[in-house]
Amino acid sequence: MNYDVIVIGGGSAGLMAAIAASKRRASVLLLDKGDKLGRKLGISGGGRCNVTNNKDLDELIRHIPGNGRFLHSSLANFNNKDIIAFFENLGIRLKEEDNGRMFPVTDRAKTVVDTLIGQVRKQGVDIRVNAPVDTVLYEDGRVAGVRLRSGETLVCRSVIVASGGKSVPQTGSTGDGYAWAEKAGHTITELFPTEVPLTSNEPFITSKELQGLSLRDVALSVWNAKGKRVVEHRGDMIFTHFGLSGPIALRCSQFVVKALKASGTGNVEVAIDLMPDKSPDEVYSETLKLAELEPKKAVKNVLKACLPEKMIPPLLRGAELAETVTYDNVPRQAWSRLAGLIKRFPVRVYGTLSIEDAFVTGGGVNLKEIDPKTMESKLTKGLYFCGEVLDIHGYTGGYNITAAFSTGYTAGMHAAE
Ligand SMILES: Cc1cc2nc3c(=O)[nH]c(=O)nc-3n(C[C@H](O)[C@H](O)[C@H](O)COP(=O)(O)OP(=O)(O)OC[C@H]3O[C@@H](n4cnc5c(N)ncnc54)[C@H](O)[C@@H]3O)c2cc1C
Repeated sequence: MNYDVIVIGGGSAGLMAAIAASKRRASVLLLDKGDKLGRKLGISGGGRCNVTNNKDLDELIRHIPGNGRFLHSSLANFNNKDIIAFFENLGIRLKEEDNGRMFPVTDRAKTVVDTLIGQVRKQGVDIRVNAPVDTVLYEDGRVAGVRLRSGETLVCRSVIVASGGKSVPQTGSTGDGYAWAEKAGHTITELFPTEVPLTSNEPFITSKELQGLSLRDVALSVWNAKGKRVVEHRGDMIFTHFGLSGPIALRCSQFVVKALKASGTGNVEVAIDLMPDKSPDEVYSETLKLAELEPKKAVKNVLKACLPEKMIPPLLRGAELAETVTYDNVPRQAWSRLAGLIKRFPVRVYGTLSIEDAFVTGGGVNLKEIDPKTMESKLTKGLYFCGEVLDIHGYTGGYNITAAFSTGYTAGMHAAE
């Protein structure tokens, strides 16, 4: 059978593309190489599926630092509010959590995945799992069909490539779509890991002294080789056996990757502000006042009142103070160094975990070659791209999934025309 539209990839983008195309009465085939659809969606948002984010559109786009502005047209077709209405119309109740993150009230990603698959089936889409695509076929500058790895050829009018990035390959996203794009003349911007833990060789990391320490509501900043702060994120983080992880470390990771590339030194500084609501002067005077009250007590014990206990030894070492030092014998200059480190505790990082370990792949199909209104290739008629295969990446928190649903919907809508 010939199809109007073949969608390659049954993740967030592909499922939504199949729904949008079949709604417009196109005959649609959805192909996936795995035995299940929506595998990455099923593990996103800590297994609860952060379906979208309820922020205003401008804020939403700001949280997609990897080319979020490209999404203006597709969000005009299908935005975060439409995603919420879409699921609620299908009987999925959603709830809003911190920072606008939207989850199903069941707290189970399966609710979302099953609903999407149910809707795809209800709208008459043919689904084939365990059907890895080998390549997309082109003829005279337009799409002709796809060839499966089994050798079978399928003919269609339009192909939507929704094959995802290269991260977490066990979910099926192994970067296959980039070669099909290149075959059609597209360029692929450099791929890199984003939303990924940071690696460091600092002695307090390699000795595992701080392993497992969670810091709540601190600020983490990335500094470039010229000593300029590139970005700062506020929230929670954790020290691991290899470096830094947790929400704000992940958010900083793409800036670390870029700063590392620019610096050429093999490492960059990230810095932790342990008291982000206080000025350096306030930190100096308030900690000093605390110590003054108990001049005979070891400073390390005094500081427990305002800092995580495990952080105190590396802070004292950094300020060149002995672990047993008391207020009575701390020179003011050393206290100033200590206060400085509380505001800017430097951690030299030399990289990140791999692209496979990252939550999201940065880079992808070059957006200059894609029509933002339709998601169609500007080079090959009938070829569409959506989701993470594109050079779009956002923070976790529902932003990537929103980009995938929105571009998927737009691609499906236009591929069906
Ligand atoms: C652990 C984790 C947590 C995350 N949490 C969040 C979050 O909280 N918020 C957020 O916004 N984002 C989050 N993300 C990112 C988000 O899930 C993805 O960006 C998004 O789901 C990508 O959707 P996609 O449809 O483009 O690609 P994918 O979901 O990767 O789907 C691609 C599909 O294509 C199929 N495929 C690939 N190659 C072939 C082929 N040759 N033939 C046939 N089929 C093929 C794959 O099997 C796969 O099913 C998270 C990611 C991970 C890994």
